[in-house]
Amino acid sequence: MLITMNDSATEKEIKRVTKLIEEMGGNVHHISDGQEVSMGITGNESTLQAAEISQMPGVKNVNNIGKPYKLGSREMKAKNTIVKVGNVEIGGKALVMIAGSCAVETVEGTNEGGRLLKMLGANLLRGGAFKPRTSPYSFQGLGKRGLEILADARELIGMPVVSEAMDTDNFDLVEEYVDLIQIGARNMQNYSLLKRAGKSSKPILLKRGISATINEFLLAAEYIMAGGNYNVILCERGIRTFNDYTRYTLDISSVPELKLLSHLPVLVDPSHASGRRDMIIPLSKAAIAAGADGIMVEVHPFPDKALSDGYQSITFEHFTELMKELRTIAKAVGRSL
Ligand code: PEP
Ligand code: MN
Repeated sequence: MLITMNDSATEKEIKRVTKLIEEMGGNVHHISDGQEVSMGITGNESTLQAAEISQMPGVKNVNNIGKPYKLGSREMKAKNTIVKVGNVEIGGKALVMIAGSCAVETVEGTNEGGRLLKMLGANLLRGGAFKPRTSPYSFQGLGKRGLEILADARELIGMPVVSEAMDTDNFDLVEEYVDLIQIGARNMQNYSLLKRAGKSSKPILLKRGISATINEFLLAAEYIMAGGNYNVILCERGIRTFNDYTRYTLDISSVPELKLLSHLPVLVDPSHASGRRDMIIPLSKAAIAAGADGIMVEVHPFPDKALSDGYQSITFEHFTELMKELRTIAKAVGRSL
């Protein structure tokens, strides 16, 4: 439900409406466009009496939001949301590049790699410290040490960092060290984790589950927003199909669909989507042409020696080429890079 107040509504009237909503068992969220005072109301719709609310002094109108996700919907907020991560804005005119190795491996690799990536135009440095691996015998990440390395790199390079929180047990730790917290594809429907993310003061990068519909994806984002954290970035990273040429299938149509349905920023991860370094450039170009707000890509100095996802990681030379090609596309679609 979206309540819009009259321009002349007083603080007292807003407070009275808020109190009534709370008495009805609802929650009030302030995520308006900033043009008029509006309140997003969540909760059990059967107890929220629209007719009664609309009669309160100061209320201009009350609109029901038809979609199952409310706070993330365009109906709630028409303007694009820009999520700030450190000094980087995600969702604005400028495209955002998140780059780095799949996992944090060494101090030197992270620092040198981060420096180079920044020089080449990357905005955020990525690196997993807690890795969700298909096999329990694969490298699981450096854990806390990985986060320390990443946080040190941020200080040294002056570039915000992103890493994944895999469960509610390690969420606090990840939250302490990084600027942007990733929730991975395998955890998109881990509701305890989503609720914990909703209580965080740090922005969340939510990756689409491998078999998640757009509706399920947006409802997962809604869990985070319903908890009070409105800084959510969506990331399409490929879904499972019968295609056996690529690791997953990049659902390029999800980009315009998500932009249509939601005001949240949308990124694309061509690395996990394809699992192939020779597809990173064409898929990234397609993503930007389709309206994505940026790319998250795995880059490693020696991909064949990487401890995880080397086969899909690109080199710095390849990243340089990617930036060059994306600048052309960015210009064509009225974005900057
Ligand atoms: C990752 O970004 O390294 C990762 C594990 O991603 P996903 O959750 O999309 O598989
Ligand atoms: Mn990876």
